[in-house]
Amino acid sequence: MTSLDRPHLFIGGAWVPPSSAATIGVENPATEETIAHVPAGTADDVDRAVTAARDAFDSWAGRSMADRGEVLDRLHTALAARAGDIAKTVGLELGTPLKVAKAVQAGLPLTVLRGYADLAVRPQPAETIGNSLVVHEPVGVVGAITPWNYPLHQVVAKVAAALAAGCTVVLKPSELTPLVAYLLFDAALEAEVPRGVLNLVTGTGAEVGAAIAGHPGIDMVSFTGSTATGRAISHAAADRIARVALELGGKSANVILEDADVVKAVKVGVGNAFLNSGQTCTAWTRMLVHRSVYDEAVSLAAKAAAGYTVGDPFDEGTRLGPLVSAAQRDRVRGFVDRADARLVAGGPDAVLPEKGHFVAPTVFADVDPASELAQEEIFGPVLSIIPFADDDEAVAIANNSRYGLAGGVWGSADRALAVARRMRTGAVDINGGAFNPVAPFGGYKQSGVGRELGEYGLAEFQQTKAIQR
Ligand code: NAD
Repeated sequence: MTSLDRPHLFIGGAWVPPSSAATIGVENPATEETIAHVPAGTADDVDRAVTAARDAFDSWAGRSMADRGEVLDRLHTALAARAGDIAKTVGLELGTPLKVAKAVQAGLPLTVLRGYADLAVRPQPAETIGNSLVVHEPVGVVGAITPWNYPLHQVVAKVAAALAAGCTVVLKPSELTPLVAYLLFDAALEAEVPRGVLNLVTGTGAEVGAAIAGHPGIDMVSFTGSTATGRAISHAAADRIARVALELGGKSANVILEDADVVKAVKVGVGNAFLNSGQTCTAWTRMLVHRSVYDEAVSLAAKAAAGYTVGDPFDEGTRLGPLVSAAQRDRVRGFVDRADARLVAGGPDAVLPEKGHFVAPTVFADVDPASELAQEEIFGPVLSIIPFADDDEAVAIANNSRYGLAGGVWGSADRALAVARRMRTGAVDINGGAFNPVAPFGGYKQSGVGRELGEYGLAEFQQTKAIQR
């Protein structure tokens, strides 16, 4: 028992006991201590939550979008009041350094929720095509399954859009970082989100996740996580032709052309690759550099990596926290140990804190684009640098991946845009273009199906109906 224990599930608008006494321990990855326990939910709990969500659906779907926007506005107010707790909780259960936790782990979901509250209250013009009135209606009951790396953002990106659209939701957060989701449900209770509209069942993927994916009462499964799990969820949903939205892995390329501002491109590129200890699906883990500026870029990247102080997420000076779990750390260290490339920073012998699941910020140069290092999503602070001779080769290397989530290009504006257009990914940032929280977000190829955020994210949770007159 600890003071952070959360013994309940949230079903039908109230905190309720789970059907089983089994719990899951939540670990602080920086100290390796168990800091809390949450219920190991069961298929029965999922069933109860789906029933509550179905019961709530007609009334919630029947409200105007503007009405639902007012509820989201109240939810935003209640969640914003918890911003400090959100950052601290993610610091504890995931190990994100506090400064990043405040800006990204707490700041981003609040921005996204605010955006959906505003979008929902905006007047929706009637759409007509010939003699048809085209209307958008909610898909139904949504099962949302989320991972641990941005544990509140990934929940809010689904929940805010689904609720705005008129869907009701059963959420299963990652069993590694479930605590921050509880803060959202504390806020939902305070904001008087109508009962049954938003339900929480914690537990493992094998039990609760699989029960959601296969539940006949769930009309759509919105999933963020690994490509392997996304595939399993697609199979389960296919049996009943349920809709799926999948946000999966990535192996994004950051292309530095010879007319780029190399100093800035490398600094921002390394920062992107190491954000959240590299546990970011959009991380630019492959740095592709034109041969004429290659040596300069390699030495800049090595120097930048060495500046990422590893340590306690709650220390002011820490820039790189631990990985989420021992399993994740061992997996990442395995890639580093097996790497067949020139090590220029970090590596297996770097000195690290004795406790905690740390991996040193690591940079490899001269990486073979076909190697494991360049092909597999490592999900840790490991950057691979690869040279290229011209734009065609840069594009070919960038696209030599089964993933297609994000990327960057640095160089003169027109040329960078031409390269960006040829990259088979859902997003590309030119010369450090800022992340846009209302732009469509999602992947090509095995990085996913569908889009999140903004109006595109809303549309994922809607059906389209044509009414002829
Ligand atoms: P994961 O696939 O193991 O788990 C994600 C969620 O799915 C968890 O809640 C887990 O309990 C659940 N789950 C596991 N097995 C399941 C099953 N058989 N049925 C139903 N649910 C199941 O992924 P993870 O390890 O938590 O997250 C890391 C991965 O997620 C990385 O590959 C990363 O790239 C990807 N990711 C993608 C995005 C994106 O937006 N594209 C965002 C974050 C993470």
